[in-house]
Amino acid sequence: MKIDKYSFGVGDRFAKEGKAQLKAIEAINKLGVPVVPVWNKSFREHSIVKTSQQSVRKEADEAVKSLGWKKNYYVDADHIGLKTVDEFLEYSDFFTIDVAHFIGTPADEKARREFVERHSKYIGDLKIPGIDEVFKVDKAYLEAAADKYLKAIQEVEKIYIHILVRKGKENFIAEVSMDETDQAQSPLELFFILAELKFQKVEVQTIAPKFSGLFAKGIDYYDNLENFSKEFEQDVAVTQYAIKELGLPESLKLSVHSGSDKFSIYPAMGKAIKKFDAGIHVKTAGTTWLEEVIGLAKAGGEGLEIARKIYTRSLERYDELTGPYETVLNIDKSKLPAPETVNGWDARQFANALIHDPDCPDYNMHFRQLIHVGYKIAVELGDEFKNALENCRQVIEDQVYTNIFERHLKRLFLQ
Ligand SMILES: [Zn+2]
Repeated sequence: MKIDKYSFGVGDRFAKEGKAQLKAIEAINKLGVPVVPVWNKSFREHSIVKTSQQSVRKEADEAVKSLGWKKNYYVDADHIGLKTVDEFLEYSDFFTIDVAHFIGTPADEKARREFVERHSKYIGDLKIPGIDEVFKVDKAYLEAAADKYLKAIQEVEKIYIHILVRKGKENFIAEVSMDETDQAQSPLELFFILAELKFQKVEVQTIAPKFSGLFAKGIDYYDNLENFSKEFEQDVAVTQYAIKELGLPESLKLSVHSGSDKFSIYPAMGKAIKKFDAGIHVKTAGTTWLEEVIGLAKAGGEGLEIARKIYTRSLERYDELTGPYETVLNIDKSKLPAPETVNGWDARQFANALIHDPDCPDYNMHFRQLIHVGYKIAVELGDEFKNALENCRQVIEDQVYTNIFERHLKRLFLQ
């Protein structure tokens, strides 16, 4: 199985928006950009929402059937490990193998020596086509790379084989993700990670490194854009070089786990993939949930009541909800509006505070991030929330569609 050149992560907390998401993918295809959808959900998300991967498969199949989608589509077991992969096997054909927490575990003496030996042909000056800078590789560099990444790559191999023997090579796509860690991987490190994956016979097709700068949940990128652009372009160059140099699958491409809504980096990403004629996968589905809350607020009445409730309860349980996402949030608590203020907002004020339009004076990125991690509150509201989603269906679907099509796909592929 080979992943298409352009793919886009969709999927949503409550598995309700498959059709609206697929409509957005369809719309970009009509404009001549062949993007395919990948419905993704992680073990963490399933445990909070109390769902299983079967619901994601169902959502994807139903959307595809209802819209008559003829191209490929995938269901991604997002951020799985050896302990969590089994319950995803039957319903998934894309596996995001997450080994980030193995990074930095020193390699065994012998394994380190062997790693250095097998990559020693790169010692000296390494010139990668498309990158001006010449990389200096020496023995110490390779030893350090082994100590940082070898254990993680060996873990990838274990998980990959586990999937391979159960699914068969032709029935799944393997992504390797290293993004949920503190330190970014450099483009040169990315090359040696790919080289070692090749040695371990892992047929990786998409790889998600950690890029420099903060990828905060649900809001834009506020770090140094110039650094990001340079690093991203070098990473693309490395993947293209790795295909030829290492004999990795032609379909190999970067996967960007954006934490959603990194609009300001899209132009740089679009430019780099065009320059190298490379593919891309973007995983950004998380904000579909925010579009649901915006839709509820816009619908007014009962919908607005629930949207307010989600915010005020999230505020009461701030520490609990933000805790698991501590490293990927950028909230200034003093900028969070008081419950009384929010309860006085009308539909437009609530929606404007939440809609991701940094130019709108009512937009509040702190408010937005808190609601982004507050989906547990919606889970607890149970039928009250689910019924509201049904009652406000049209306005929600318009939000979901417009968000993915206008803000994401067009900016990435057509800017
Ligand atoms: Zn990720």
